[in-house]
Amino acid sequence: MLFRQLFDMDTCTYTYIIASKMGGEAAIIDPVKEHVAEYVKLLSELNIKLVFAIDTHVHADHITGIGALRLQTDCMSVMGDHTRAECVSLKVKDGEIIKLDNLQIKAMYTPGHTDDSFSFLLNDRVFTGDTLLIRGTGRTDFQNGSAEQSYASIFNCLLQLPGETFVYPAHDYNGQMCSTIYEERNFNPRLQVKSLAEYVELMENLNLPNPKYMDIAVPANLQCGLV
Ligand code: FE
Repeated sequence: MLFRQLFDMDTCTYTYIIASKMGGEAAIIDPVKEHVAEYVKLLSELNIKLVFAIDTHVHADHITGIGALRLQTDCMSVMGDHTRAECVSLKVKDGEIIKLDNLQIKAMYTPGHTDDSFSFLLNDRVFTGDTLLIRGTGRTDFQNGSAEQSYASIFNCLLQLPGETFVYPAHDYNGQMCSTIYEERNFNPRLQVKSLAEYVELMENLNLPNPKYMDIAVPANLQCGLV
């Protein structure tokens, strides 16, 4: 398998490229519009064909590259079926499998950060979007977020994966690139709560400022970034 983790320094966004092999089919997860030309160059250097450009959710902090990649590479733009981004070419359901040659990526509905958030499981790794971050969890105070749903998605879904599963989030603000389910279950400070009520209380008192590009990013991303 071919795997690359790319980083947008402006918004601390991770983008992932996955392919079965050189010469094979590829997917990209959470591409950032400003970097589309770099992605296209890398895809060509690795001789892989982009088939799916996937967003884990409608992002509020950066403009997505899924629309531009679809135009430039003829790939399908993909989101989960709870998205309000009507521009996508494919909406996947919870449990649906996306196939890349011999690789299988399983869509998992994990709302909470937003009501359209999905995670994507590929063998020994899970791309958690902003549902589960490294030693953190995605904020739940806008875009129909819900601390209750976040708790259920994390405790009943993601933390049920094998402990050795690698966690690859959509962001990290401290330079941490990867974690595991075991580490997050045991050492993520937000997950050391004794009850749903305790988690909700914690999430409702974060008092975070809005992301700096939110007013531009959300409407743009509902158009797949093509504005
Ligand atoms: Fe987000």
